[in-house]
Amino acid sequence: MQNFKNHLFADCDSGYDDARYVVFGVPYDGTTTFRPGTREGPRAIREFSWNFETYMPSYGLNFSDIPITDLGDIDTGVMPEDVVADVFSAGQEIIRDVKIPVMLGGEHSITTGAVRAVQPDCYVVCDAHLDLRDEFRGTHYNHACTTRRVLEDGIKDIIIVGGRSGTKDQFELAKSLTLYTADEIHKRGMDSVMNEIKDTIGKKRVYLSIDADAIDCCLTPGLGTPEPFGLTPQDIRDLIRVVAPHAVAFDYVEVSPFDHGQTATVAAQLVREFVAAHVKFSQKINS
Ligand code: MN
Ligand code: MN
Repeated sequence: MQNFKNHLFADCDSGYDDARYVVFGVPYDGTTTFRPGTREGPRAIREFSWNFETYMPSYGLNFSDIPITDLGDIDTGVMPEDVVADVFSAGQEIIRDVKIPVMLGGEHSITTGAVRAVQPDCYVVCDAHLDLRDEFRGTHYNHACTTRRVLEDGIKDIIIVGGRSGTKDQFELAKSLTLYTADEIHKRGMDSVMNEIKDTIGKKRVYLSIDADAIDCCLTPGLGTPEPFGLTPQDIRDLIRVVAPHAVAFDYVEVSPFDHGQTATVAAQLVREFVAAHVKFSQKINS
């Protein structure tokens, strides 16, 4: 049979039963307040995933050898609480089947559903925004409320990396969490921050969420709520390499791909980095 191209993430060729990692997209941007477009995120991340070589030299492995599947996109509703519920159900099923969810957004509100399904001990999020609003524009499930929902769902350890935008109240509330602002990271360097994060994580089950706007908007401008003075793609890669082995779930959200492909390219490569780092190092840590 002739080879047919498809629109799923490159090299995710396992069937569901054999897969250890399960990619799915959530093309939702219903609560976006500034610039819409994150509904195109999953499509763009998958499209640019085909640009890369299968071989990943830092890990000495072929991405295509990893047991990973891509289910496609959740057929989302309009109301954010419905989307969160759909993501929750999908996440629960994947966790029940002892697999690692790898979710492509979509706006950040979807993370609330996935975290509820996974119930991690620790939530590590890279984000320019604190996302600690209780409510925004009529809903508790606005993408500006995600970390607040995680907090109120009782996740004890919350680590925000790259934060640089929020109200005074949100920065007050953040004092009860662990916040590494982008400025602090620039001053101290990623290595020093990573060592602290390693200690905090210990042997906890971690949910890792990457909001694309953690990265400086001048480097990856395909964002709904762009912020300058941010982290670099290398910073996020460093963090993924440290945190991925402890992670039980991962998402990459808030890619609004109306640039020249930089934001989706970085996202696709960091998704691969997460999976490769998890494959390579998780057994060592858990044994
Ligand atoms: Mn966010
Ligand atoms: Mn953000």
